[in-house]
Amino acid sequence: MVQQSRKNRSRFVKVKCPDCENEQIVFEKASTVVDCVVCGKVLAEPAGGKAQIKADILETYE
Ligand SMILES: [Zn+2]
Repeated sequence: MVQQSRKNRSRFVKVKCPDCENEQIVFEKASTVVDCVVCGKVLAEPAGGKAQIKADILETYE
């Protein structure tokens, strides 16, 4: 029997940069700092295995 329920779930979140309103997709478990591609603001930084999102979260994808 193959079940996927216990697999590592990777989630992505769509965030909006609070400074320039650029929207981009960020890996929820980012292991490096994620900058806004437009203005360079830090949108997420790693915090104990799960990224700390510092922008507005619009949507979550599983
Ligand atoms: Zn920005």
